[in-house]
Amino acid sequence: MSGFDYDLFVIGGGSGGVRAARWSAMEGVKVGLAEEYRYGGTCVIRGCVPKKLMVFASGFHQAFEDARGFGWDLEQGDFDWPGFIAKKDSEIDRLEGVYEKNLKAVNVEVFRARAVLEDAHTVKLSTGETFRAKHILVATGGAPFLPEVPGIEHVITSNEIFHLETLPERMLIVGGGYIACEFAGIMNGLGTAVTQFYRGAQILRGFDDEVRGHVAEEMRKKNINLHVGRDLVSIEKKETGLEVKCTDGTFSEYDVILYATGRKPNSAGLGLQDIGVQLGRNGEIRVDEFSQTAVPSVFAIGDVTDRVNLTPVAIREGMAFAETVFKSNPTPVDHALIPTAVFTQPEIGTVGLTQEAAREDHEVEVYRSTFRPMFHAFADRDQRMLMKLIVDKPTQKVLGVHIVGPAAGEMIQMVGIALKMGATKQDFDATMAVHPTAAEELVTMRDPMPG
Ligand code: FAD
Ligand code: NDP
Repeated sequence: MSGFDYDLFVIGGGSGGVRAARWSAMEGVKVGLAEEYRYGGTCVIRGCVPKKLMVFASGFHQAFEDARGFGWDLEQGDFDWPGFIAKKDSEIDRLEGVYEKNLKAVNVEVFRARAVLEDAHTVKLSTGETFRAKHILVATGGAPFLPEVPGIEHVITSNEIFHLETLPERMLIVGGGYIACEFAGIMNGLGTAVTQFYRGAQILRGFDDEVRGHVAEEMRKKNINLHVGRDLVSIEKKETGLEVKCTDGTFSEYDVILYATGRKPNSAGLGLQDIGVQLGRNGEIRVDEFSQTAVPSVFAIGDVTDRVNLTPVAIREGMAFAETVFKSNPTPVDHALIPTAVFTQPEIGTVGLTQEAAREDHEVEVYRSTFRPMFHAFADRDQRMLMKLIVDKPTQKVLGVHIVGPAAGEMIQMVGIALKMGATKQDFDATMAVHPTAAEELVTMRDPMPG
């Protein structure tokens, strides 16, 4: 390591950076890591983890109603937002401590500072310190993107939603992707009157069309005021709230407006282009299959590369980096057949091709079932579940599975294993059902849809 302070310097202590630092340090190499905000990154501090806690909290409203359907005599109390937020904050503090402890346990030297690159082997910290490293890993994640709209300074993003002092009475959510749809369900469940505007024809672009329609319908049944084909022209702060003017000429007023209009890679101001690292149109760092940039000593993983922006993917890319660089085992990350869940209410679990995408290159058979699960039927709740198998007709290989309903995320994790192993429809058919469950429907669909 002659002439270098570290074998590896990691910029960013989020999902990807922490995993890469730990896996590399466990190989006995000397690792430094700089984090400018909090260890754990987006996922732990202001993403997956606090979001899922809010999903849980928001589900009780329906659970209380369902309990009455099962014979429980109970009164529904009020939701204590400040109490919940305080408890959530202490849980996040605890998790951040675990992340920092795990780094130190394997002798990663950590710096609470912003880092930028000075050259292909040098990082400069906001503390003024400068270090030379044989390899530099950029794992700086992404940040919310806000379009240019007059009055946009009055809105919040997912960064702020976790710290609101009070539960808003009226909220507008702009966007139709993961975050917008998840928070529409969360805030609605907690008791806020939610309106959602999406600029396109149907929410959740990129998901199976039938899944999109099913979720939109179920969201409306839960009284989410979802408008598609509608966007904002301007926002004005009035005494009584935030007044928005819409593209259809109408005006409406809200207490809080959440913009969930996508995220942008955190690559600006790091000195990347000055040293020859290439960026794409959205600011994403361009890397090869081994996460190596155009500068051989500089690698990048996770959301800053804008490949598939999910925590398990950033973690896997971090592990693959450590394998490649420090274990002499070149490991590309396989981005095919990534199972994913959207924690909408009802939840989506999906893996593989949508019906529309499959039709482009395959002769497909579609197996589909919609039904009212036993739980909802007994509780007298009008909520349906949807399951779809997309099958390649000549080989009978299952190309995609889409589930909407309770525990869809849990189910799709298991289905993902089967698809990764190349399961055919006959493998699904040969698997004995687990009864009585909703999941048994996945192995009992006999006839493809006509046409
Ligand atoms: P990050 O976790 O964003 O970490 C990057 C870190 O780098 C940050 O801590 C940042 O402070 C730090 N940093 C940036 N620049 C510098 C610098 N110059 N110097 C030092 N430090 C720097 N994914 C899922 O799989 N499931 C979910 O349910 C899910 N829910 C989400 C909900 C929300 C609201 C959001 C916003 C995201 C969610 N995601 C979810 C996506 C997931 O959080 C990201 O894909 C994941 O965190 C990416 O990890 P990363 O390591 O690339 O970046
Ligand atoms: P998404 O890319 O999922 O959705 C962005 C939404 O904003 C789309 O509906 C998009 O519309 C709309 N939009 C974009 N630009 C504008 C604009 N100028 N005006 C109006 N609407 C606009 O991003 P999110 O912010 O929801 O989430 C970011 C990423 O984080 C996700 O893609 C996912 O990778 C990850 N994530 C994962 C979660 C999970 O695993 N459960 C949960 C939350 C986030 P259009 O479709 O028309 O482009």
